[in-house]
Amino acid sequence: MKKGIAASKGYAIGNVVIKANIEIEITDKKVDDIDVEKKRLSTAIENSRAQLQKIKEKAEKELGADKAAVFESHIMLLDDPEFTGAVEGKVASESTNAEKAVSEVVEMYMGIFAAIEDEYMRERAADVKDVGKRIIGNLAGTITGDGDLNENTVIVAHDLTPSDTAQLDRSKVIGFLTNIGGRTSHSAIMARTLEIPAVVGLNDITESVKDGDLVIVDGIEGEVIINPDESTLKIYTEKKDKFEKEREELKKLIDVETKTKAGKRVEVCGNIGKAQDVEGVLANGGDGIGLFRTEFLYMDRDSIPTEEEQFESYKYVVEKMEGRPVVIRTLDIGGDKKLPYLPLPEEMNPFLGYRAIRLCLGRKDIFKVQLRALLRASAFGNLKIMFPMISSLEEFLAAKEVLSECMEELKAEGKEFNAELETGIMVEIPAAAVMADELAKYVDFFSIGTNDLIQYTLAADRMNENVSYLYNPMHPAVLRLIKMTIEAAHKEGKWCGMCGEMAGDEKAIPTLTQYGLDEFSMSASSILSAKKYIMNN
Ligand code: PEP
Ligand code: MG
Repeated sequence: MKKGIAASKGYAIGNVVIKANIEIEITDKKVDDIDVEKKRLSTAIENSRAQLQKIKEKAEKELGADKAAVFESHIMLLDDPEFTGAVEGKVASESTNAEKAVSEVVEMYMGIFAAIEDEYMRERAADVKDVGKRIIGNLAGTITGDGDLNENTVIVAHDLTPSDTAQLDRSKVIGFLTNIGGRTSHSAIMARTLEIPAVVGLNDITESVKDGDLVIVDGIEGEVIINPDESTLKIYTEKKDKFEKEREELKKLIDVETKTKAGKRVEVCGNIGKAQDVEGVLANGGDGIGLFRTEFLYMDRDSIPTEEEQFESYKYVVEKMEGRPVVIRTLDIGGDKKLPYLPLPEEMNPFLGYRAIRLCLGRKDIFKVQLRALLRASAFGNLKIMFPMISSLEEFLAAKEVLSECMEELKAEGKEFNAELETGIMVEIPAAAVMADELAKYVDFFSIGTNDLIQYTLAADRMNENVSYLYNPMHPAVLRLIKMTIEAAHKEGKWCGMCGEMAGDEKAIPTLTQYGLDEFSMSASSILSAKKYIMNN
């Protein structure tokens, strides 16, 4: 048995597929035998072609021909003698090792494409990069047949990026295990959104299992059992059935209004990362959306989403929520969330760096596109805007200033929006909690982001499994800041919510209820159990 950190509740019993996402080191080493190297190269190209063919067929079946077309263009590139010939040429004439030859030719192509100002060409550059990565992966032997998963797969990886997690095929993947990460790393949060049991921070799980091993994922205790015997398997199958029955039982609370024992009505809302996640919140009886992490709209693509694309997503959510509150957070990129097309300087401390509102105030061109889209969507429902990582009143006022500029522009263009929409801030930096009495005079609401507030207060990285013992939501320092924030909001007649994972934590709920928190927002899968705990307190 291996112990890690419970990241997403539930049990999964399935077979391991190891996902290699190791950065392959490419060296300058020259090769002795050119023929052997050429053979390695042609085998890797053949394997890449076979994998792409399979992925293409699967995509055609499941996603339609237009989505599958991208894989056809990847195959065409492998068939293009100019591309493969250039790689082979480097091996033959310069004795370059195959990995290096592929990477140099890819670089050359990328350089050519990057110089052309054209969306289509930029996409081709991404194709060349993808294909190059695949060939190099095959050369290094790190590619397992992705796109070809069996049912009941448990993905095992060193780490999963938020976008890796978002792309997991839920019909096949029933759980995941990672070496690194903590309960509030974004892959863990994503697992809860997808309702996939997960254990993270296992240190060396990639070394402890091999492809095909049977594993039990215990997402409640944070444990993994590798190749269990019959009796263990029986025990866990029963636990799994019981857990699923209890989850069914909780469904009775879907339409129940949540009131504390003292009779205070509180809202239990859902956190979402993509517009479609709204379905999960509705299915679990959420009173609204307490946090829409919009940065996920910016991921897995080659360029910033346009105002129109963003407008469509925000409008979809507010319309689906039919007048219920929808708190949409402006772009919070940085930390563990990166964008491939927005290269930012390497930082010593990305969580303390140029991110979120800091970046948006520095890049008004990007910020205004989002604010305009949000304002336009506000005409279609109960939309509220929330700014992340606010550390001072000046920052909030600066953000509001940009929002006013956007309002003026839209007015001049004759476009509709709700001029009265509420604007609030995340309280996730201790400075904001300490200054909450001042800030409360200016904002319409607070939402406490405990995922970050805890890490900044206790100086314990939320992603680092070695300091997870310090990352304690119930630390008195954290609780004092939470209490101060709620009281400051109430004193000014404002409401205070919480959208960090602590809001759904059964151990924290009695205290939060007692402090008078007005809104609890969490992953959709936690909403019903949170309702139960709030009603008992
Ligand atoms: C938080 O910090 O608590 C929060 C909700 O935001 P994120 O997890 O996206 O940083
Ligand atoms: Mg945060």
